[in-house]
Amino acid sequence: MLKLSRHIESNSTDPFDIIIIGGGITGAAVAYTASSMGYKTALFEKNDYGGATSAATSKLIHGGLRYLANFELGLVRESLRERLILGNIAPNFVYPLPFLFPIYGGIFNILKMQVGLNLYDILSFDKSKTWDKSKALQNHTSYNSIETTKIEPNIVTENLQQSLLFYDYQSIAPERLTLAFLKSAVQKGAVISNYAKVESFIQNQNRIEGVVVRDLIHQTEKEFKAKIIVNCAGTWADEILKKVSEQSSTAHKVKRSEGIHIITKKIAENHVVSLQTKSGKHLMIMPWRNHSIIGTTDKEYLGEPDQYKVSKQGIDELLTEVNEHYKVKLTYADVQFAYGGLRPLIDNPSENSYNASRKFELYDHAKVNLNGLITVEGGKYTTSRHLAHEVLKLIQKKWQVTMQKDKTAKNYLYGCEIPNVTQFLTSQHQKYDAHFNPKTVEYISKNYGTQSDIIFQLAQENEAWKEQLTDDGEILAEVVYAIQFESTKTLCDILLRRTGIGTLGKPTPEIIDKITDLTSKMLHWSTEETTRNQQQIQNYYTMPFENVN
Ligand SMILES: Cc1cc2nc3c(=O)[nH]c(=O)nc-3n(C[C@H](O)[C@H](O)[C@H](O)COP(=O)(O)OP(=O)(O)OC[C@H]3O[C@@H](n4cnc5c(N)ncnc54)[C@H](O)[C@@H]3O)c2cc1C
Repeated sequence: MLKLSRHIESNSTDPFDIIIIGGGITGAAVAYTASSMGYKTALFEKNDYGGATSAATSKLIHGGLRYLANFELGLVRESLRERLILGNIAPNFVYPLPFLFPIYGGIFNILKMQVGLNLYDILSFDKSKTWDKSKALQNHTSYNSIETTKIEPNIVTENLQQSLLFYDYQSIAPERLTLAFLKSAVQKGAVISNYAKVESFIQNQNRIEGVVVRDLIHQTEKEFKAKIIVNCAGTWADEILKKVSEQSSTAHKVKRSEGIHIITKKIAENHVVSLQTKSGKHLMIMPWRNHSIIGTTDKEYLGEPDQYKVSKQGIDELLTEVNEHYKVKLTYADVQFAYGGLRPLIDNPSENSYNASRKFELYDHAKVNLNGLITVEGGKYTTSRHLAHEVLKLIQKKWQVTMQKDKTAKNYLYGCEIPNVTQFLTSQHQKYDAHFNPKTVEYISKNYGTQSDIIFQLAQENEAWKEQLTDDGEILAEVVYAIQFESTKTLCDILLRRTGIGTLGKPTPEIIDKITDLTSKMLHWSTEETTRNQQQIQNYYTMPFENVN
């Protein structure tokens, strides 16, 4: 049974082949690929795993239909291939998601979308070659305006010509999917640490030889050496480079684009309703856990990345846009929760952030006479596994060694070893429905995959841990599992990343108290630590939701 521990707490100072800075999906995928090729790998994350941009996504595992408008055929094909792979290797997290795209106006708009979707179908020629046949996707199809309003009655009908239906995938829990990559890396021998901030580099003339890492839990510092350091700090990539030299940081500016989402009661049926705004951007109303996620925005962000917060103005702007293009009219009081993040985009002064490419780039700093450091910039959650493959290709080319076989597309991620999800869920219901709410069985089996049995077992050993905390059926035993097995250090880790208890909005004070009591006992927190954690929760949920509920 895999238990995540923090390497920074061990006494080992053995050198590594590869050190990765950042535990978002990019760092997690690089750690998995590197360790599965047999390289001694360490990863350091300054906050919690997968808690930054990787937790702020629209939860899509997608080809990115809209990138076809920029003729980025290569990016779309790469994304469609990775979509298929993620559906295969993480079957309990990734599910087919139908999109409905209403088309207004004249024949030109219809033709444009039809050409785009025909191309999307062609580029995803292998979409039915899934390991689990329930994940196979169909080509697009169309509905006339009457059929459209029957299936999605809140679509505006004035000037509606028809709608097009196509498919991508949804990741039901990006935070847990990132963790699955990290667990897979650990299973292959990688060591990882959350709350471990890379403060500076160990530099010997023009070579980076390691990193100085601060353990933010125990307030100590340690040095770790490696043959190569991979900067996967995403939106902080240029901040990391400032620790090396002014030259590196100015050569690699990261452009940041803010994207926010709001969560409301369910305002669309089971499709993603994809609306084109007057300014030509796309706005999606996505189904998730019996609610709607509405997003996203795309606005250049010029502030400090550490200071970033979703603003009330951002929420208001999003509400105005959705109200302009959809029959349901929402107010600020309808916003149950909002989350946002910063896209790290490759800085190209000639592009606005919405049109900036989602391609990734690898930069070997040896080009500016600084050896031992590679920076990864840009990218999408969907393409992270491929990005990791390219990082390892570059490293092995530099080391002049034969490229190891990359088996990450062929093997299930840790906890996801499920050849047929439908059969797996049926068998979980047969085993556990007599003891738990079927909703609990469904939620836990999907979100914890083959590890879900441990949670059911914990709950059966201690009746109190069977207590249901959310409408989805989440139970207290998940908190116990998070603490015992998943390197959980704070209440925010539990509510926002290990479980989904706090991702639909602020849990009730009773639930927060219950989780706080259990966590503080299990982690032996002092009164001060408990208060600090409670304060963090309050801060997290009060801004910018002063007027909400
Ligand atoms: C609003 C929005 C919606 C999106 N939707 C989608 C989508 O639906 N599908 C899709 O495929 N992509 C989507 N993306 C893109 C996707 O989220 C990103 O490409 C991806 O998450 C980037 O991951 P990352 O690991 O590079 O960055 P991050 O997740 O930000 O990880 C970087 C990590 O580095 C850590 N770090 C920084 N400095 C240090 C340090 N000094 N020491 C140690 N660690 C450090 C940070 O704490 C952070 O955890 C979306 C992006 C946004 C903003």
